[in-house]
Amino acid sequence: MLELILATGNAHKAEEFQVLFQGSLVIKSAPSGLNPDETGKTYAENALIKAKAYYDAFNAPALADDSGLNVTSLPDILGVQSARFREDLPSYSDKCQALLKLLEQESQREAYFSCTLCFYLNPSEIYFFEGRVNGVIGTELKGEKGFGYDPIFIPTRKENDGASLAQLPEWKNAFSHRAKASEAALQFFKNYKN
Ligand code: IMP
Repeated sequence: MLELILATGNAHKAEEFQVLFQGSLVIKSAPSGLNPDETGKTYAENALIKAKAYYDAFNAPALADDSGLNVTSLPDILGVQSARFREDLPSYSDKCQALLKLLEQESQREAYFSCTLCFYLNPSEIYFFEGRVNGVIGTELKGEKGFGYDPIFIPTRKENDGASLAQLPEWKNAFSHRAKASEAALQFFKNYKN
């Protein structure tokens, strides 16, 4: 089974990957965390920066995730900079409140989460996979599960009950941006021979 070190300091992402790749890929945590500058303009560029930094440091295949929240009516903030939104605020619940405030008078609330995975197996074998989940930004924080902007993101589901991603951990594991990118990776690695 292919073994990869996970190029992230985000424990929530690590937990999600353990579930998503269970039984298919071995995901190990890195011996120590790195914090490379995420200077890329796209999710793929930043995922590559992180995966390559871990590959170079630990001389082992690495998996990085770069992800973010994209809000249609706020094209100049969030996106690849989602982790850097309102760095002055101490918690994600404060950041969620700040985002709700920006959208207070806004009726156009479409949004989506994006995820790009970079599998850096060695310098000549680098693979990317993408996933996306559509939804809207709600009007209040709801739910205790998940992380980041999950409490204000209402994914598009047939139930149409207004539940946030923070209230839908099982649905998130099956249909999130990270789940879809991981599913694409699993399809690819099913036929991969190293
Ligand atoms: P990264 O670690 O540089 O990829 O930053 C990801 C940013 O997007 C962080 O601010 C996360 O909170 C946010 N984000 C990414 N994926 C999710 C998710 O599944 N739920 C909530 N927020 C997310």
